[in-house]
Amino acid sequence: MSLKILKSNDTMIIIKKQAEIEAMREGGKILAGVMQALGDRVAPGKNTFEIDQLAEKLISEAGGIPIFKGYGKESGNPFPATICASINEEIVHGIPSLSRILREGDIFKIDIGMRYRGMVTDMARTFAVGKISVEARKIMDVTRECLEAGIGSIKAGANLRDYSAAVQEYVEGQGFSVVRDLVGHGVGRFLHEDPHIPNYKSGGKEIILEEGMTLALEPMINAGTHRIELRKDRWTYATVDGKLSAHFEDTVLVSKNGAEILTRI
Ligand code: MG
Repeated sequence: MSLKILKSNDTMIIIKKQAEIEAMREGGKILAGVMQALGDRVAPGKNTFEIDQLAEKLISEAGGIPIFKGYGKESGNPFPATICASINEEIVHGIPSLSRILREGDIFKIDIGMRYRGMVTDMARTFAVGKISVEARKIMDVTRECLEAGIGSIKAGANLRDYSAAVQEYVEGQGFSVVRDLVGHGVGRFLHEDPHIPNYKSGGKEIILEEGMTLALEPMINAGTHRIELRKDRWTYATVDGKLSAHFEDTVLVSKNGAEILTRI
């Protein structure tokens, strides 16, 4: 789940203890398995509510807690589901619904977060629904690849700006745009921790990465303009021009030699 960017001067990045890292490793693998099972269900005719119900069941059977459900309750508008289910021009934070039916040619984003043995991991994938257009395939591929490019720049001693630059340069080189108003974030003890992690060169505060930081890296990539709008449900963000958007996210651990990706099997 991504974060609305705030202007903040204070950054308090939590370095995780070994036992916390172990819990995130285990939880991340479970979450990746849940995502795989959900991806296997993606097909024309399915509704997004049934995929959400399956996610909730699988997380609960694994001994985890869905972390998105109830998120934001202090605002009076808590997120009501286990997954964010966003289709086509919806970027992130779509609400699962019986009436949202996946159709051939859609691209469907599932974002999911879980607390397991006390620790949170967060991930997202974009799936093709049946046969999709060449452009839809391309934005999915570029988004997956820009996350890889960004992850390649993560290691202890590196500047977080190198991540942002790697993602942005890759995406813009392919003719797409990077969402700016939503960013990745630290993750672990809480769903959203410091630092903010823009997927573009923001000119924000310089952050030097240290071993034991855990980060949710999540480029949100648009086919047209980077500009976004918030829909009436006050959760769903969509592109203002109605063009496609894709999203991939992994939780990673910063280590001496690079990023250890925690949310993959
Ligand atoms: Mg996230």
